[in-house]
Amino acid sequence: MTTNNDIKIVTLGNTSVGKSSFIIKYIENKFTYNYIATLGLDFKQKKIKLKDGKDVRLRIFDTAGQERFRSVSVSFIKKADGVILIYDITNRETFDSIGEWIKNIREIGKELLPVVLVGNKCDLPEEERKVTLIEGKEKAEQFKIPFFETSCKDGINIKEAFDKIVEEITTKSNWSPNGEIKTLKKGNNNGKKCC
Ligand code: GDP
Ligand code: MG
Repeated sequence: MTTNNDIKIVTLGNTSVGKSSFIIKYIENKFTYNYIATLGLDFKQKKIKLKDGKDVRLRIFDTAGQERFRSVSVSFIKKADGVILIYDITNRETFDSIGEWIKNIREIGKELLPVVLVGNKCDLPEEERKVTLIEGKEKAEQFKIPFFETSCKDGINIKEAFDKIVEEITTKSNWSPNGEIKTLKKGNNNGKKCC
C-alpha cells in the first residue's frame, strides 16, 4: 500500500527576499551572503514529528520570483499544501507585491491553502528598514494569516514560521496523512495572531 505522509511547502515572494536562504537555514542551519541563484526547481526535505506523534516528511520547494518564472510558481502553488510568503523588510517593493502574491495564491491554490507571511532580514540595522513591524502585522491581519519577522542570518523565527505552517496545514487545511477522510474546519487561523 502506498502511504502519503508528505507535506509540500513552497516559498514564494519577489527576488532576493531570502527564499532560498530561508530553506537552507531551516534544513542545514547555514547562511551565506553569496547570492544563491535559483531555477525554481530545487527542493529539500526533512522528517519531522507532528504534535500527535505522527511522522511526516516535509518537502520544501524553492521558487524564483522573477516574472519569467511565474509559470513555474503556478505549478508549485497548485501542488502545495502550504505557502511561506516572504518579503524583505528593507525593500518596500517586495512588501507592496504581497497583495498580488496572495491574490495569485488564492486563485491558483487549493481551497483553504494555508499561507504564513514572513518579513525577512530583521537583523539589518533599523535605518535600513523600509517596512515597519506594524505594517507587516496589519497586512497579515488583512488576509487573516499568521505573521513573523525573521532573520535567516541570525536564525530568528525560522523554525517558528515552519512550525506554524505545519500546524496550519495539519489542523486547518484539507491535508490528511495516508489520505484519511478529514472533516474540514472552515475559516483560516480563526483571526488569531501569532506575534
Ligand atoms: P531569494 O532570491 O528570495 O531566494 O533570496 P536569497 O536567499 O538568494 O537571498 C538574497 C540575498 O539576501 C543573499 O545575499 C542573502 O545572503 C541575503 N539574505 C537572505 N536572508 C537574509 C537575512 O535574514 N538577513 C540578511 N542580512 N541578509 C539575508
Ligand atoms: Mg532563491
